[in-house]
Amino acid sequence: MSLLRVDSVDKSYGNEPVLHDVSFGMDRQQVEVIVGPSGSGKSTLLRCVNRLTEIDSGEIYLDDEEIHTVDENELRRRVGMVFQDFNLFAHLTARGNITLGLREVLGLSKPEAEAKADDYLDRVGLADQAESYPAELSGGQQQRVGIARALAMDPELILFDEPTSALDPELIGEVLTVMEDLAEGGMTMLCVTHEMGFARSAADTITFLDEGRIVERGPPEQLFESP
Ligand code: ADP
Ligand code: ADP
Repeated sequence: MSLLRVDSVDKSYGNEPVLHDVSFGMDRQQVEVIVGPSGSGKSTLLRCVNRLTEIDSGEIYLDDEEIHTVDENELRRRVGMVFQDFNLFAHLTARGNITLGLREVLGLSKPEAEAKADDYLDRVGLADQAESYPAELSGGQQQRVGIARALAMDPELILFDEPTSALDPELIGEVLTVMEDLAEGGMTMLCVTHEMGFARSAADTITFLDEGRIVERGPPEQLFESP
C-alpha cells in the first residue's frame, strides 16, 4: 500500500492552471525528487500534499486516508515540511523553534519537549547551538534546525521545498549530508531540489514537472542515462 497517493490533481490560481491531472504514488522509505523549471508547479504540489494549499479536483491519500478527512493537527504531525527560507521564528532559540510544535501539536510537557528538541539538534550536529537564535546561526545551521524541527514530530513523510536554494554554495553540503543520512535511514522524503547530485545518489524516483504536468518519471539510472 502506498504511503502517499496523488490522484488526478488539478489546481489553478484564478484562471492560471498550475497543476494538471497530476498522479503518482510513493511507498514508505522511498525518496522522490521533483524537478522542473521555475513556475512548473513543484512548490504548489508539495503545498497541496500538506494542505497549505487546497486542490481544485482529484484526491490525495495518506496511508489510504483522503487528506481532507484527516484532522489538521494530525496532518501537521504526520507530514513534515522543510522550507526554502527555513521559516524559523526569529524570537525563539533553535530549541524553542523545535519545542513549539512538540508542545502545541503533540502536547508534550516543557521538559519532555526540550529533551526531545536537544536530541534532534544533536542528530543534525547542532548540540551546541540549542540556545542560539536564528540570526546567530548560518543559513546551513538554520536549515538544519528546520530539518530537526520536522524530524522531531516523528512524521511519516517529510516534504522538502528547495531546502538548499537560499544557501551560500559553501553551506549546501552540510544540509545535503543531513538529507542523505535521512534517506539512508529510511525516511520517506518528497523533495523539490535542483541538486542533481543528491537526486542521482539518494532518489529512488525522479519526477519531471513541466507546466504543471508530469512529463517523465522513473529511477535516476533510467533518467540520467545518456541517450
Ligand atoms: P515552482 O515551485 O515549480 O517554481 P510554483 O508552484 O511556485 O512553481 O508556482 C507555479 C505557478 O503558480 C507560478 O506561475 C506561480 O506564480 C503561481 N503561484 C504560486 N503560488 C501562487 C499563489 N499563492 N497565488 C497565485 N499564483 C501562484
Ligand atoms: P517558490 O518559487 O520558492 O516556491 P515563490 O516566490 O514562487 O516561491 O512564492 C512565494 C510565496 O508567494 C508562496 O506562498 C506562493 O504561493 C506565493 N506566490 C507565488 N506566486 C504568486 C502569485 N503570482 N500571486 C500570489 N502569490 C504567489
